[in-house]
Amino acid sequence: MITDLIARHALPIAIATLETGKLHRETAALIGRIEQRYALAVEVYRPRGEQAVHFVRENGEDAMYRSLALRKACCGLRKLEPLARMLAERSAWVTGLRREQSDARGEVPFRDHDDAGRLKLNALADWTWGDVWHHVATHDVPYNPLHDHFMPSIGCAPCTRAIAVGEPFRAGRWWWEDEAAKECGLHVHQEAATAAR
Ligand code: SF4
Repeated sequence: MITDLIARHALPIAIATLETGKLHRETAALIGRIEQRYALAVEVYRPRGEQAVHFVRENGEDAMYRSLALRKACCGLRKLEPLARMLAERSAWVTGLRREQSDARGEVPFRDHDDAGRLKLNALADWTWGDVWHHVATHDVPYNPLHDHFMPSIGCAPCTRAIAVGEPFRAGRWWWEDEAAKECGLHVHQEAATAAR
């Protein structure tokens, strides 16, 4: 959605994403579909190969299910470290966070700062699920086909499942964990993360 708005208005903002090495093939394929649709290059940030290989060798492919610490370690090397590289030379970023996505995101402001002091703009903060799909239909925005399979919130394949009717949007993310732990850390202020421990 953010990509569509940036491309549609020809804004001088780079498009970047994280390829964790654990994405569904549909999610990974969306990167190429977006590049084709908007005739732009998406910057793709991946985990450092040796770190990922070492982690799997030490802890196994299913480490994330065994403890919160291992799940966070996996998110750390596959998401947080690549995100730090993505943002290293940047003074601002734009996200698609929406208040409706979860209680934890219920107060997301339009304008924020991350822990490094960078401006963080949450341009879709007050968009509803209906707003998103109206925009997708109106502007023929490429979207992840997994959304059609009851996955409103999509992350890595091992940590995403379809939800049932009536479940919250993010119920399919890290479903085996307590609600309070269910963020990967990409959008958590360190102060709040410390308070929640
Ligand atoms: S979401 Fe799951 S697979 Fe992806 S980085 Fe986090 S723990 Fe690892």
